[in-house]
Amino acid sequence: MLQIDNLHAEIDGTKILNGLTLSVNAGEVHAIMGPNGAGKSTLAYVLGGRPGYEVTEGSVFFRGEDLLAMDPHERAAAGLFLGFQYPVEIPGVSNIQFLREALNAQRRARGDEPMTGGDFLKLAKEKAGLLKLDMEMLKRNVNVGFSGGEKKRAEMVQMGILDPCFAVLDETDSGLDIDALRVVGDGINAIMRAKEGEGGDKGVLLITHYQRLLDVVQPTHVSILSKGRIVKTGGPELAADLEREGYDAVMETA
Ligand code: ADP
Ligand code: MG
Ligand code: MG
Repeated sequence: MLQIDNLHAEIDGTKILNGLTLSVNAGEVHAIMGPNGAGKSTLAYVLGGRPGYEVTEGSVFFRGEDLLAMDPHERAAAGLFLGFQYPVEIPGVSNIQFLREALNAQRRARGDEPMTGGDFLKLAKEKAGLLKLDMEMLKRNVNVGFSGGEKKRAEMVQMGILDPCFAVLDETDSGLDIDALRVVGDGINAIMRAKEGEGGDKGVLLITHYQRLLDVVQPTHVSILSKGRIVKTGGPELAADLEREGYDAVMETA
């Protein structure tokens, strides 16, 4: 689904990604771990097409298409979702308005009719229920005055509504207490992973510092990102090794 090859990227002339190669297939949850400043968020921004991030070498293919040639809304319409470490606040726009517009923009880009108000509310209620977020929260302005946990839940409600085929989630666990972590992790599983006995048709790139989210959203693969490139890839046991021994010790054996 996602094939990143020898990706080099810079911000303001500073080289951040340095020959990053990684692929994620349908049905996989690939966790990216790595020390602060390794380039994890930069990778998420480059995949999302954020202005200011310049790709100088390499390629990214998403479902067989050249992702880097698409603008951000085309990436979203193609089924890519990005969850950010610091969700933005949008004063003056209610969450419900925002979510409905996001969904209908995606539908229009795909040549589908916009969803009617009644159908949309039903969908929003279902997804809010999944994330245990009160519908009253969705009537408030986007993220304004939300706690860290509420922002992350609202973002996962958005993911549920858009129903992407691929999600890049950057430190979705940051700022969550244990209960919120469980709710958000269960939400990610419900939205992005196949039910028992079904083949998975979605992919996830899960960026995190800690094992604790991976206890809920169990990865199929774990890679360590350091200095802008993947230095080691393994199974879920790699996350446990990191937790126990720290990055330096594990990377020495890379
Ligand atoms: P991570 O998410 O792994 O902690 P980031 O991708 O946020 O790392 O940052 C990678 C590196 O890029 C860091 O050294 C950071 O200081 C640097 N960086 C991030 N944004 C900018 C910027 N706008 N200009 C210059 N350097 C930046
Ligand atoms: Mg960081
Ligand atoms: Mg980061």
